[in-house]
Amino acid sequence: MMTPLLGRSLAELSDWVEAQGQPRYRGKQLYEWVYQRGIASLTEVTVFPKRWREQVAELPVGRSQVQHRLSSADGTVKYLLQLADGAIIETVGIPTAKRLTVCVSTQVGCPMGCTFCATGKGGFTRNLAKHEILDQVLTVQGDFGQRVSHLVFMGMGEPLMNLEQVVGAIASLNQDIGIGQRNMTISTVGIPQRIHQLAGYQLQATLAVSLHAPNQALRSQLIPSANHYPLEALLSDCKDYVATTGRRVSFEYTLLAGVNDQVEHAHQLAQLIRGFQSHVNLIPYNPIADADFRRPQGASLQQFSQILTDARVAVSIRRTRGLEASAACGQLRGQRLP
Ligand code: SAH
Ligand code: SF4
Repeated sequence: MMTPLLGRSLAELSDWVEAQGQPRYRGKQLYEWVYQRGIASLTEVTVFPKRWREQVAELPVGRSQVQHRLSSADGTVKYLLQLADGAIIETVGIPTAKRLTVCVSTQVGCPMGCTFCATGKGGFTRNLAKHEILDQVLTVQGDFGQRVSHLVFMGMGEPLMNLEQVVGAIASLNQDIGIGQRNMTISTVGIPQRIHQLAGYQLQATLAVSLHAPNQALRSQLIPSANHYPLEALLSDCKDYVATTGRRVSFEYTLLAGVNDQVEHAHQLAQLIRGFQSHVNLIPYNPIADADFRRPQGASLQQFSQILTDARVAVSIRRTRGLEASAACGQLRGQRLP
């Protein structure tokens, strides 16, 4: 089957249009209809001659089908999207004041198996292609009737396990869809060599590293893959990233009551990243099926945060969005709950 039109540049679309025996300027039209108007089928391009539209009607634009849409009282909307091969992924649209943030998936499932994450529990199917990442943004944009201003790679999957498609998507999101790189965040649990590789692309996007523990022993209990990536090596790679790109790294820390949210953990964390150009995001655990963890109480959350602040570590507590739609961090599993 032909590779989809979504994901192609203006020049590539113009070449394609010409190869179809149409004048080259129609490439510019196609580009606008694909990226700005968000067409799902070539039959929608009413500026094209009707006969040609009918001939190319079946060719793939590269859009998914919204299989299910679930909205939360706070305005967050979760979408279950069906891809061309039938695979299901999830995407979340999160409106705040003037912003519209989209939380995109990078894989169908995830191979990393973190113990507190619904995606990790569901196993791994495949990487997403570039156009399948772009599609998620156009879908949210179309449904909200509002431009997406911010984007986080925090949906299903580990972005650095699909680096090439993710980097390709970032370029297109920037050039073709118009989202500033500085408004994008790539979140990773950390993969050996890959942070270094990512730094080589010199992106302006923010790198967020999912830390979740202040020492190696606890970290590898929570994140099986951490066994192969010592905390020291991970932090040293983060320092190199800052040096190479001039961008800050942020650390994500999912707080699991009684597991990694104790006073001593906060002190240890402060010690670990002191003097590091960074920012810590505390994420209260969002409950998922088949896991024994608990969400921390407000007071212990505040205490954890205060210890970091006192140690001059920049910290914020991530506001939970979309909890009742199972759209919050870590709750995406690519299937409807019964
Ligand atoms: N694979 C990448 C990006 C997707 S996960 C990564 O792990 O960084 C996005 C964020 O959600 C990560 O920081 C992850 O640790 C966090 N998360 C996963 N499960 C969670 C849960 N049940 N509650 C709260 N945060 C969770
Ligand atoms: Fe994968 Fe991230 Fe979930 Fe871990 S937390 S299983 S890396 S999606």
